[in-house]
Formats: sequence, structure tokens, C-alpha cells
Amino acid sequence: MGKFTVDSNGFYGEFGGAYIPEILYDNVETLKNTYLEVLNEPSFKEEYEGLLKDYVGRPSPLYLANRLSLKYGCKIYLKREDLNHTGSHKINNAIGQILIARRMGKTRIIAETGAGQHGVATATVCALMNMECVVYMGAVDVERQKLNVQKMEMLGATVVPVTSGNMTLKDATNEAIRDWCSNPSNTYYVIGSTVGPHPYPDMVARLQSIISEEIRKQLLEKEGRETPDYVMACVGGGSNAAGTIYHFIDEINTEIVLAEAAGKGINSGESAATIHLGKLGIIHGSKTLIMQSEDGQIEEPYSISAGLDYPGIGPMHAHLAKIGRSQVLAVTDDEAMQAAFELTKLEGIIPAIESAHALGALNKMKFKADDIVVLCLSGRGDKDMETYINYNA
Ligand SMILES: *Cc1c(COP(=O)(O)O)cnc(C)c1O
Repeated sequence: MGKFTVDSNGFYGEFGGAYIPEILYDNVETLKNTYLEVLNEPSFKEEYEGLLKDYVGRPSPLYLANRLSLKYGCKIYLKREDLNHTGSHKINNAIGQILIARRMGKTRIIAETGAGQHGVATATVCALMNMECVVYMGAVDVERQKLNVQKMEMLGATVVPVTSGNMTLKDATNEAIRDWCSNPSNTYYVIGSTVGPHPYPDMVARLQSIISEEIRKQLLEKEGRETPDYVMACVGGGSNAAGTIYHFIDEINTEIVLAEAAGKGINSGESAATIHLGKLGIIHGSKTLIMQSEDGQIEEPYSISAGLDYPGIGPMHAHLAKIGRSQVLAVTDDEAMQAAFELTKLEGIIPAIESAHALGALNKMKFKADDIVVLCLSGRGDKDMETYINYNA
């Protein structure tokens, strides 16, 4: 590891860092000085790995998608994060951070959520561990994602609708940060992606790195080699992508291909293609690429997939794209939806619309017949049924 990973100040190249209000300085500093130690404690590892196995259902299968492979003329394996408890990779991170919070003596958990997947994962783990849980969610998203709100409430969490700004994820995140500033001593803020101030991006990447750790073992068993020719994933904030690529970053023969949401087209004014369109700025404690207007106002992103429409991008991914270690493709709503229907017909798997963006990137690639491709299927499509039905209507 080296030029691809975070430095001691939390920077990936020019991106990252910790730009936080004074009141949170002690909290973030303590977390920064604690997280690596905790992650390496044998008792933490035992509890974390035990829960991943028996509660989440890991290892998630690495499935050779035969009919999909035939279509694209290579060998495509799907990493089945969709089969995890609560339906996506987000639970890997939620369990890890809440175990860290408990070891830091925190009694109250807060989180932000957009589509509700991170909120549901956090509320689930809080129920399991008997912790107080408050989830901030934009009022527009509360309306759009009723079922997830009802799940969080059934799990015992308090869902706070946020009515400032555009009433979506960015505003929910601001409100969660405000709560954290008012309750710095007893509260731990569980961030759902590789975003936010250092050490969050690195901590979340490490907690999700179980994905690529498993891929290496599973590929060795199935193919007699640990490294594929390509790893592919979708990027919102970047956590499933970070987990999928983590143990391949230094394997330069493994190409990293990421898909961001182009919405109605990169140049349509309605997209969430942050790496293509973003400019350097600071959002939620991190210096990174941001969708912003000429005068630096954050622009509301758009994607058909609620999990990908964040106006920023994790600093790790901004860096990897900038130095050319990853290739980032922009996939439109329509391309993702077609890819979702295709996977459903060919393999009998209904993917989350976020994951369908990674599938939509397959079409833009030129593979050789003996190429081995591992694609992260970050979540299942149950939550998206209404969108799929209305799209076809
Ligand atoms: C939240 C979510 C994403 C996007 O978040 P990342 O941090 O970029 O992984 C992707 N897929 C699914 C299924 C999600 O729930």
C-alpha cells in the first residue's frame, strides 16, 4: 500500500482531510486515534467476524453468472452483497461502527439516510445491541421511502424528517452533524459511506474490505487465482466500491471500473456524475469533488436511484480516478434500468437500481473471452419494485 491509501492526515492525494467545527474536534480526534487500534483488537475481530457470519450470513457467495457471461463474452462473477441481512452491503459497516461506538463508551447512535438503506441497517444493529437510535432523513425521502421509514420505526429508531434545503440526503447529513455538535459526549455518528471527515472514509473502507478479502479466497477456489482482470462496482459515496477494490488496489493487473449515475445524461443538468462533473470543494468535512455551480453553491444531484444521488464523492475515489488507477463510467437511468431487466431475465436476480448501474457499465467495455470480471451486486431490488413497475408502465 502507499500512494493509493490514506495518509496520517486523512488525505488521498489532494482529497480528504477533516474540515470540522471546533466543537467536534475532540470527538473526531479521539475516533482518529482509536479506530485502527480497535479494528485490530482480537476481541473486536472476534465479535465483528462472528456477527458477519451468523447474523449477516457471510461470506456472501461469488456466483458465476453463466448467461450474463455468454452475453458479454467473458467470465462474469457476481459478488452477492444483495443476499446479506437487510439486503445490501451497508450492514457490514453499520455493525463495525456500532461495535466501535460501544468500545468508546457511547450510548446513543445517530445516522443520516437517503433512500433509507443505511438507516435500516443502523436501526437493525441498534435493535440487536439495545442502543438508542435517531435517524435523520429528508422530508422528501421520508415520503418517497415509506416502507423503509416504517421498518426503522418498527426496529425502535426515531426517524426525524428534515425540512431544510431540498429536504434530501445532503440536508439530512447537515442535521445529523448539528445533532452531533449538540451531543458530542454520549453520541456516535454512524456515517453510511466512504465520505465525511477523516477517519470515516478510511474506517468505512476497511469495514467494507471484507468484500474483496472474500473475493480473493473465493476466486482462488474457483479459478486457481486470487486476482480477476476486472473489478466493477457502482459509486454513490463509494463504500461498496471501496470494499470491492480494497485488496486489489496494489494489483495493477486488476483493472478497476466504477459506474457513477449519469441520470438523464451527463450534460442534461440532471445527473449525479460527480467524478465527471464535480469541482474541488468541501462538503461534510471532506475536501473532494462536488457538484456545484459557478459560484460554489452545491447543486442538487439527480439519479433514478436514491442511493447514488449524493452531490459529493468519497475522497478515495476522487483520487483513484484522478491518478488513473480507476476508470469511471457514467451510466444513465435508462441504461441502468435496461441492465436491471436484463439481469432479471438472464439470471433470475432482481438487483437494486444502484447495483444496476455497475451492470449497465458492462455494455461500455470490450472484454476478451478469457477475462475474469468480478462485479459487486451491492443490493437487492425489493426496495425498488415501485420504480421498476412505474418505469415499464
Ligand atoms: C447505498 C447504496 C449504494 C451506494 O452507496 P456506496 O457507499 O457508494 O456503496 C449502492 N448500492 C446499494 C444497494 C446501496 O444501498
